[in-house]
Amino acid sequence: MGVENKLDRSWHNIDPDEVLTSFETDDKNGLTSDMVSERLNKYGENALPEKQSENRFIKFLKHFNDVLIYVLLVAAFVTGFLGHYIDTIVIVLVAVINAVIGYFQESKAEKALEGIKNMLSLEANVLRDGEKQIIHADELVPGDIVYLNSGDKVPADLRLLSANQLKTEEAALTGESTSTEKSIDTLDEETVLGDRLNMAFSGTAVTSGSGQGVVIATGTHTEIGKINESINEVEELKTPLMKQTDRFGKTVAVFILAASGLIYLFGIYLRDYGAAELLLSIIGLAVAAIPEGLPAIISIILALGVQTMANRKAIVRNLPSVETLGAVSVICSDKTGTLTKNEMTVTSVSTIEHDYKVTGTGYAPEGEIKQHDQEVDVNDHPALRELLMVMKTCNTASLKQEDGSWYVVGEPTEGCLLTLAEKADNHIPRGDILSTIPFDSDYKYMAVLTENDEGKYIYIKGAPDRLFQMAEASDDNFDRDIWEEKVKARTTKGERVLSAAYKKVSDNVTKIHHEDLDEGVIFLGLTGIIDPPREEAIKAIEECAKAGINVKMITGDHKDTALAIGEKMGIGDGEKGLEGKEIDAMSDEELSEAIMTYDVFARTSPDNKLRIVKALQNHDKIAAMTGDGVNDAPALKRADIGVAMGIKGTEVAKESSQMILTDDNFETIVGAVEEGRRVYANLKKTILFILPTNGAQSFLIMASILLGTMMPLTPIQILWVNMVIAITVSLALAFEPVEAGAMRRPPRPVKTPLLTSYYIFRIIFVSLLIGGGTLLLNVELLSRGIDNNMINSVLLHTIVMMQMFHLFNCRNELSIAFDKNFFKNKVAFLVSGVLILLQLALLYLPFMNVAFGTQPLDIIYWIVPILMGMTVFVIIEIEKAITRYLLQKRDE
Ligand code: ADP
Ligand code: MG
Repeated sequence: MGVENKLDRSWHNIDPDEVLTSFETDDKNGLTSDMVSERLNKYGENALPEKQSENRFIKFLKHFNDVLIYVLLVAAFVTGFLGHYIDTIVIVLVAVINAVIGYFQESKAEKALEGIKNMLSLEANVLRDGEKQIIHADELVPGDIVYLNSGDKVPADLRLLSANQLKTEEAALTGESTSTEKSIDTLDEETVLGDRLNMAFSGTAVTSGSGQGVVIATGTHTEIGKINESINEVEELKTPLMKQTDRFGKTVAVFILAASGLIYLFGIYLRDYGAAELLLSIIGLAVAAIPEGLPAIISIILALGVQTMANRKAIVRNLPSVETLGAVSVICSDKTGTLTKNEMTVTSVSTIEHDYKVTGTGYAPEGEIKQHDQEVDVNDHPALRELLMVMKTCNTASLKQEDGSWYVVGEPTEGCLLTLAEKADNHIPRGDILSTIPFDSDYKYMAVLTENDEGKYIYIKGAPDRLFQMAEASDDNFDRDIWEEKVKARTTKGERVLSAAYKKVSDNVTKIHHEDLDEGVIFLGLTGIIDPPREEAIKAIEECAKAGINVKMITGDHKDTALAIGEKMGIGDGEKGLEGKEIDAMSDEELSEAIMTYDVFARTSPDNKLRIVKALQNHDKIAAMTGDGVNDAPALKRADIGVAMGIKGTEVAKESSQMILTDDNFETIVGAVEEGRRVYANLKKTILFILPTNGAQSFLIMASILLGTMMPLTPIQILWVNMVIAITVSLALAFEPVEAGAMRRPPRPVKTPLLTSYYIFRIIFVSLLIGGGTLLLNVELLSRGIDNNMINSVLLHTIVMMQMFHLFNCRNELSIAFDKNFFKNKVAFLVSGVLILLQLALLYLPFMNVAFGTQPLDIIYWIVPILMGMTVFVIIEIEKAITRYLLQKRDE
């Protein structure tokens, strides 16, 4: 029978062996590469079709759905009605260009996020050609043997071949969010989806245990594929800041309407303007007041931010997080691997017989186990031998050598124990494993069932306090006090301690459970493991202190170890730490009260993490929280920025996070926060820079109408100014490097509005400077009897030149323009050059003269605007200096 029609059979009703034969596979070797490529051809990739995305044209049209664009379109209609067709065309063109820019920006942001999704693509553990491999889940084919572990997303529909306390959560499929324990027993044909315990379905999550299954359906043939529900949730594209600017746009629209009405009445009754002329002025005003280019610039800045962060090893899943990152005020970090190097080395061993020192560093099995400076013969030290056997057998890691250097496949904590066993002068055997209780930071130990000549044993390794508890229950020789002392001696030096124990069980035991360890456990001894702090993390912690960001260490490790490492790294004082069980005993209120006084949290459970996040948020803190396991998911989701570990993190943790570290490094989090601050600052600077363009022109037009002078600037000329400023010079701000003081200030309070009172002042101030200056020039030129077209060209050019200089004010919010970054941002100079070229084109190309009603200018009309620009620049710098001085005084 071929493989063709297999995909729809009731696999839960068929025995595992039969499933394997019908897919021409087996659970010892898996498929061969040839079979895989053949089947890949036949069934296609294991992927769901992209969700039918919205029609592109509709997406494009959506960019016209904006109050400000409505205002523009009405303006276009009115000009058309008045017979000013060129104006109509240009205004419509601007609306279209705006939509085009918006559309492309949106696609670009979507693509950036899409690319990031690809970087996060699901992986699968498979058996092929007799070897365990990690592949992209897309490449799975029916018949593949897949391994499942706690924290994995199930990559395809599987018929289970083994299940070791395997539990999955199938909410994605059944809506049921409780985990069900799986088994491999064959079920009735009629069994409904939710009860098919011998199957694991694509898109569901493994919440605990482990297992193995054979792929029976991929891609669209899977259950999730059949209901055609894409599991990729839609990512939010609008940030709080963008929403604020949207709201701001509406305010502007209301302002325009009100001002237009008033001015119309004023013009008709108190000055005898013609209705048509007045309408044109009002349209000019509307066009002037709308910051057409602002939304596009904001999304460019955010998208660039996502890109930069990705280059700095922090993958941000959505645009809003870029902004939130800049406001982070507490970082709660894992210890092992994030703050420390996760390069474990066992340096000491204590058994019930003796204490030993171990030489050699790293994973290379070079070094000796010594007693009194003499290498020991393990055959003379039965307890040591036994301990090494437990450590080696109760272990999921393996050691590999490549180009002479040794590395661990699996957990470093486990790898170093293998190295330890290899350092013994005699070979230490590794037992076969019949059943496993995997390590879980909830329990803090791991156990396996194994068999040797003398019968069956459970081998246990884990946190000493857990094993002490087990030993105390039954082992009369066990002296907890002595062992506590040995542990203390190591933990106070910052060492991680792992202990070993065993239990004899009867031959009919085939599976082990946590309850089996309640009695009869014999304690063997413990190992002291060093894990040096990451140098760069120490620096990053210092930087956080300067930036007003509180760093908290949250670890499953022993309290003394955590305190000692914390003290070395600058977290906490080395004395004050809170343990998980103390947190358990506290009410939410008590925890909320205590939370700010502790920086080290030890022996924590994933549930503790969630409560810590909540307590911090009670204090209005913006918390970043790291995590790697399935159990961390609630805390990661709840945190303002959930940070998943890209290397050791589980799929479930990654999915619950806003940010993923591709290097698991604490420094990367701090780097992302710095980038977040830079992006936010640049967004604000952009707004600070662009709005006076609109303010100045609005002021100029209103004042002219009130003064009864001629209407300066035509609507198209105003559009030219707005667009040319937005698409050239303001772009420079996106590339502005981080300000020198950015990481020496406390994080911004979350609820800061977009336009603080200083910003409003500054925008009005600059609007009056530029608008007022232009108005004076207008009056002066009028009194000299200069031709109207000429005056318009001069005014337009003056506003543009003044804004060009103003850009250099805005590159720093408050500090002096000429700082050490002045020449760093080459883009600022480049775009200024482009702006001048555009102005030359506008003023000196004949067809541009026709289209925009401009005229070639004499050299004097370059000199005056530039001088005015410089004056504005200097005045604003003086204003900044005064504000700096006042702020400093206020803070004293
Ligand atoms: P951390 O927060 O530092 O990463 P973990 O939660 O990983 O700490 O580990 C907590 C404790 O559990 C460790 O101090 C150690 O005693 C024990 N432990 C860690 N890894 C393992 C393992 N693979 N097997 C058994 N016990 C472990
Ligand atoms: Mg850990």
